[in-house]
Amino acid sequence: MGKVTGFLEYERLEEGYEPVPKRVKNWKEFVIGLNEEQAKVQGARCMDCGTPFCNSGCPVNNIIPDFNDLVFRGDWKNAIEVLHSTNNFPEFTGRVCPAPCEAACTLNVNDDPVGIKSIEHAIIDRAWTEGWVQPRPAERNTGKTVAVVGSGPAGLAAAQQLARAGHEVTLFEKNDRIGGLLRYGIPDFKMEKSHIDRRVEQMQAEGVVFRTGVLVGALDAQARITNDAKEQIDAEALKAQFDAVLLAGGSEVSRDLPVPGRDLDGVHFAMEFLPQQNRVVAGDKLKGQIRAAGKHVIVIGGGDTGSDCVGTSNRHGAASVTQFELLPMPPEQENKPLVWPYWPTKLRTSSSHEEGCEREFAIATKEFVGGTGKDKGKLTALRTVHVEMANGKLVEVPGTEKEYKCELVLLAMGFVSPVASVLEAFGVERDVRGNARASVDSARAYRTNVDKVFAAGDIRRGQSLIVWAIREGRQAARAVDQFLMGSSVLPN
Ligand SMILES: Cc1cc2nc3c(=O)[nH]c(=O)nc-3n(C[C@H](O)[C@H](O)[C@H](O)COP(=O)(O)OP(=O)(O)OC[C@H]3O[C@@H](n4cnc5c(N)ncnc54)[C@H](O)[C@@H]3O)c2cc1C
Ligand code: SF4
Repeated sequence: MGKVTGFLEYERLEEGYEPVPKRVKNWKEFVIGLNEEQAKVQGARCMDCGTPFCNSGCPVNNIIPDFNDLVFRGDWKNAIEVLHSTNNFPEFTGRVCPAPCEAACTLNVNDDPVGIKSIEHAIIDRAWTEGWVQPRPAERNTGKTVAVVGSGPAGLAAAQQLARAGHEVTLFEKNDRIGGLLRYGIPDFKMEKSHIDRRVEQMQAEGVVFRTGVLVGALDAQARITNDAKEQIDAEALKAQFDAVLLAGGSEVSRDLPVPGRDLDGVHFAMEFLPQQNRVVAGDKLKGQIRAAGKHVIVIGGGDTGSDCVGTSNRHGAASVTQFELLPMPPEQENKPLVWPYWPTKLRTSSSHEEGCEREFAIATKEFVGGTGKDKGKLTALRTVHVEMANGKLVEVPGTEKEYKCELVLLAMGFVSPVASVLEAFGVERDVRGNARASVDSARAYRTNVDKVFAAGDIRRGQSLIVWAIREGRQAARAVDQFLMGSSVLPN
């Protein structure tokens, strides 16, 4: 374990942030990671509990006490070996994972968990700097071919694992760049895209073939967000060409708000707004980019996507940013004895909120209001009402109607399901929520009803987290390997 008395001697140290006035002027990451000495002290706080709840709280089951101890001892090279043994891309999770491991840490019982995510961040950044992250091509080729559809964290993790098991992997992506929501969802200020690019290079050296701008299956009217496909491949053709197919296309249908005025100019899905900015940061020239500059912006939806809209609007120079959440404000502090070691519902204030944002809770939008004269057809305001819980239902509170002036509304209320057409094209059954039906715990793990077709990530579990997508990609790779070879060398 770290230092036997470390948790008594040292306090938790948070990673630093660049000051708000500086960071909102650019699109760069602004988290100041722990230095070597700080990470060592934080590693020393780990108690190496007999039952490490952090390990089961982490969806990829990172072996947290071991890497904490290695960092404490200054053995960074073995720390990255341990970290990579469960997580293909710690630089993604070390930046944007909400860290359920820390909620589960025993020290969190009195609100002072080990800074696991910051240690993970420090390990992988050092590993890249030292040149310890190198391609690991398979020693033998199995002669089997696998198509992975979708290049988000699930598809990337699966492709890397399958290539390392010796299969010939081709990854198909309809967008012009690799990365899924890592590329065209999460803003650069949370995660710069060079982190994806160097993993792509590593995976190419391991034998993965990337084919961007290729849509698998049929295009459908629901596919409202990013689609740069110049080429289309039929599902049957793909099945005929490959020994196995893994669907990892994410959950792309945004939840809509069909109230009067929805069609007004100025009401957009978050996933129309955010990818555009990421493209601009990448150097693309866009016509008619949705801009928040000088506008009163209202973000509807209180999750990660909403928060990213707040941060992006502030960087555009919005006149004001307000975020609405339908549910009542959660407590600032959870009831630990009731919820620990699970992920608690509590008020969370993101770095984007700290950059400037009014937050309204228990509020429902009744109508988007358009202007008159030269502003006809354009959003000028929205009407709301407060809601409260009554008999388990949200009901409107009479007399609380209000109008907010706004010229831009961003709908960030989550995602309903995957786009139907890709599943229909393969004949894959869907569950009640519209996701690909594939169980994780039977002998048919990650297999769909269609022979040799598997599904993993948000397309299977619904809208989730990067760390869950990585877990599913890794586990699905093992399931595909087992299907192809009869047994698997890949970890569970
Ligand atoms: C704005 C935003 C911010 C987020 N922030 C965080 C965060 O901070 N932390 C966190 O843990 N999670 C966050 N998430 C959630 C996280 O990004 C997702 O859970 C994760 O990316 C899902 O991974 P995936 O591989 O299953 O799918 P995706 O990342 O959605 O990737 C799917 C890919 O498949 C491609 N595709 C789909 N259909 C086809 C087809 N037919 N042919 C070819 N290609 C296809 C898509 O273009 C896409 O590139 C955020 C999500 C959003 C939208
Ligand atoms: S991946 Fe997320 S949950 Fe797992 S150790 Fe890292 S920060 Fe914690």
